[in-house]
Amino acid sequence: MDCLFCRFSLDKNIKAHEYKGFYYIFDESPVNPGHLLVIPKKHTLSLLDLHKEDQIIFFEAIIE
Ligand SMILES: [Zn+2]
Repeated sequence: MDCLFCRFSLDKNIKAHEYKGFYYIFDESPVNPGHLLVIPKKHTLSLLDLHKEDQIIFFEAIIE
């Protein structure tokens, strides 16, 4: 799969936190506190294409 985010998530040089099927990468120059990139471990075209359970995990994780 030639997907930027899938390649990004496989790059071991990038420090990412992992939690329940997602990678969380904090921006080195955050625009706002808590600025981060969230990448699902499973390739998907859109947040809306994730299973409902994964959408819930995503939103729970970003509001913590
Ligand atoms: Zn992908």
